Amino acid sequence: MSTPAPVMPDHPRLRPLGIHEVTLAPGFWGDRQQLNAEEIIPHVEHWLERQGWAGNFDLAMTGGLPEGRSGREFADSEIYKLLEGMAWELGRRPNPELEERFARLSRRVASAQEADGYLSTAFGRPGQRPRYSDLEWGHELYCYGHLIQAGVARLRTYGEDLLVRTAVAAADHVCREFGDEGDTRVCGHPEIETALAELARATGRPKYLQQAKKFVERRGHGSLRKIFLGQEYFQDDTPVRAAETLRGHAVRALYLSAGAVDVAMDTDDDGLLTAAAQQVRRTLARRTYITGGMGAQHEGESFGADFALPPDRSYSETCAGIASVQLNHRLLLATGDPLHADAVERTLFNVVAAAVAEDGHSFFYTNTLHQREAGRRPPAGEASPRAASGMRAPWFDVSCCPTNVTRTLASLAAYVATADDQGLQIHQYAQGTIATELNGEPLRLLVETEYPHHGNIQVRVEQAPQTWTLSMRIPNWADGARAWITGEAPQMVEPGMFELPRPLRVGEAVTLDLPVAPRWSWADPRVDAVRGHVAVECGPLVMALESPDVAAAAPDAVEAADADVATVRADPRHPLTLTEGQVMLPVRRHRNSESQWPFPPRRPQEPDDETPLAHVPMIPYHRWANRGPSTMRVWIPEVPAAIQPGTSR
Ligand SMILES: [Zn+2]
Repeated sequence: MSTPAPVMPDHPRLRPLGIHEVTLAPGFWGDRQQLNAEEIIPHVEHWLERQGWAGNFDLAMTGGLPEGRSGREFADSEIYKLLEGMAWELGRRPNPELEERFARLSRRVASAQEADGYLSTAFGRPGQRPRYSDLEWGHELYCYGHLIQAGVARLRTYGEDLLVRTAVAAADHVCREFGDEGDTRVCGHPEIETALAELARATGRPKYLQQAKKFVERRGHGSLRKIFLGQEYFQDDTPVRAAETLRGHAVRALYLSAGAVDVAMDTDDDGLLTAAAQQVRRTLARRTYITGGMGAQHEGESFGADFALPPDRSYSETCAGIASVQLNHRLLLATGDPLHADAVERTLFNVVAAAVAEDGHSFFYTNTLHQREAGRRPPAGEASPRAASGMRAPWFDVSCCPTNVTRTLASLAAYVATADDQGLQIHQYAQGTIATELNGEPLRLLVETEYPHHGNIQVRVEQAPQTWTLSMRIPNWADGARAWITGEAPQMVEPGMFELPRPLRVGEAVTLDLPVAPRWSWADPRVDAVRGHVAVECGPLVMALESPDVAAAAPDAVEAADADVATVRADPRHPLTLTEGQVMLPVRRHRNSESQWPFPPRRPQEPDDETPLAHVPMIPYHRWANRGPSTMRVWIPEVPAAIQPGTSR
């Protein structure tokens, strides 16, 4: 049995359960899937029309290009990502009205395809630059990658239709054009690699996998022109299997690595898989924010050096978070290492969830960890520059992130659980049902939880084979987790995969209790930008301090400065507490003094033990900037007296 999922390797270590096997009920993620269907997808459709990016396909038919074209070279890809999101949503829950919108948009895309399969509204017509004349920046193959992924989603959730035929024709064109006898360069933006590998899986035609392999192997040999950002910007500096870490433009690096893992899995290339897995482990250990965000540098939207993770200049693009989820999910399927499911969880809760406003109508492109000045409200009805991070915006000049969110939320169920010959593994916890077959026998589980707000997760068996094994991921932060089969004694479980000691029978339940009480977190001393700072996490949620709460905690404050997050020092010698479910941060307040020059010859005045202790509420990071312009920080400076190595909760 196998049901649609975005990633379905031929013979993975763990088989992903698809969107018909895992159903998310109302809860943290179920609610967001609902928001996606009802608000985010229509919002994105509206903006793609309004900006003229969907209309580019109509102009291709009516001869209105290049004069009337709107958007950047890669604008076509946003329509494809939306189509992918719609396809997953339709697969999850049929909806005739959405089906009609999907079909209409598919027809407009297909009408712009040329007889040989070429499809781009930006190149190749009289008055436009010739096809493939700017592989560095033109994004033609990148756009095909998204078209192909949309086609795969539709093929798996519906079967062959116009969009599928359009995607396959484009893929066939690529195989002809970029085969061994043809153009042997690569696209400046990886993405087609993972898409072609998936198309091979979905159609059973190995030629697409072979083409994906060619693109992975060709990169790193300098086929792209030299650019001012350096060849590592598009990973053309070092071959994939020779690199030590992810580097350069973060989204490019992550999509490429996902493609490399796909190729490695389906061609049994252990060397390539090992290289990719090592690069990702190193990147997680040295180049990833506490939120799971990747890509610290605004310049080149790129990874910085190891441990260069400044919170106030965190680029941490939403798409890089999504790409990290995709990559780590593939590595989980390939290796079974729960480290990758930990990374998926961290990134989903703290980057993907943070990127979307509560009403689903605005988005973050970059995800800063420290907003020093209250952001400005983006003008309603206008696209924003992408790096404005103080408030979410309805749309961006480069708007890759909102469309990427639609397809991620619609297919989210496919990241929850996997199966192998022995049994079932649950990697992500969400209220819902899991219904599949193990060795031809039905298994049906009910997952009941209010995770991540409560750490109690109960899995009840409604149908099960005689012998099977249930494994559950214990997150790497879950010190002191316990599990028990109803009626039996609780046992302590260690981070990693916890395998139940015996098969659960119908009617039985297992409860996992994860410690989601607030905890302090410190940074490796090499993360100099947050030396002397502390963060707070609750289960998988990174917490943030936001100015409205700082203001509310000081009702007698008369000066606006007192409401700023810069006036707060954390004192981790005192416990984090909960008041009416809200995390309270023990702090000592501090009025910053103004001087002509901010570098005095002696240590400046800081709060100490004489300064009164106060408590300020914190919110989950993903909820910040939903109450108007604010200042915010994840890393809080410690009261100097509190800084002692080894201080614990
Ligand atoms: Zn993006």
